[in-house]
Amino acid sequence: MTDNFFDVVDNDGNPVDPDRNEDKDLRESKGTESGKSASETEIDKNSANEEKKQGMSVKNPVLAEIIDWIKVLSVAAVLAFCINNFIIANSTIPTGSMESTIMPGARVFGSRLTYTFGEVQRDDIAIFKYGYTCKNDKQMYRENDEHACPLCGREDKKNSVVYYVKRVIGMPGDHIEIKQTGTADASEFHNINIGLNPDGTTPEVPVGTVYVNGVAKEEVYLSEPMIVDGRQFPEVDVVVPEGSYYVLGDNRNNSMDARYWGKYNMVARDRMVAKVYVKYWPLNDIGVVK
Ligand SMILES: [Zn+2]
Repeated sequence: MTDNFFDVVDNDGNPVDPDRNEDKDLRESKGTESGKSASETEIDKNSANEEKKQGMSVKNPVLAEIIDWIKVLSVAAVLAFCINNFIIANSTIPTGSMESTIMPGARVFGSRLTYTFGEVQRDDIAIFKYGYTCKNDKQMYRENDEHACPLCGREDKKNSVVYYVKRVIGMPGDHIEIKQTGTADASEFHNINIGLNPDGTTPEVPVGTVYVNGVAKEEVYLSEPMIVDGRQFPEVDVVVPEGSYYVLGDNRNNSMDARYWGKYNMVARDRMVAKVYVKYWPLNDIGVVK
């Protein structure tokens, strides 16, 4: 849990400081109907305080105040827990794999409800459970049939869960292909550094296309051509099993995604955590994610 779970704000969204009751009183006066005189307001307020005092079983005012605040903080903590665990998934984008759509280091909000009560849709940007970081050797690994760190064998349940954010490309039953379809000039790339040929000329870069059930997918969210050289940037030919999804990063030339996960290249439905709707950090890049 983070500190902000315990921030308490008033109706205007201003932080409320328990030690500064004067401020609160000022706001109450300000909010009074114009029809009432100041003295009437004072009386209303006093009688309200009087009722409050009578309703209290604790005589010590300091203790009463502390108990009030414990109640407020408890409710805030329970609410924050529920929102965080059942409604909103709050995630940091660790790498540049979604760059151009979501920058590395950005923070996003996703809705868990979308995947609890609705379906995963093609082109969703999804937060999903990718695997774990081993607490022994700090190795991040894809979850696997051994349910343990491939380096040292430490069990998944003793390690930290790793979530990824990628775009849903393949739906259950889809035939997904990535094929080399041509070349692009090196000047078309700005997310990846294309070196020069030995003779100093700029190389033609082999690029490709994603096909869904034989139809070329129009990928408007890509900011540069997708390199497909059959080696570092592989061709793909897979059928998505029922109950699974095939996911790729928007920064396709710099994304560790399903192309590289070998036999674990599918994301099961129950690993889908939340659909991303909003990026909120950094503030100058706040907005709706498409
Ligand atoms: Zn390990």
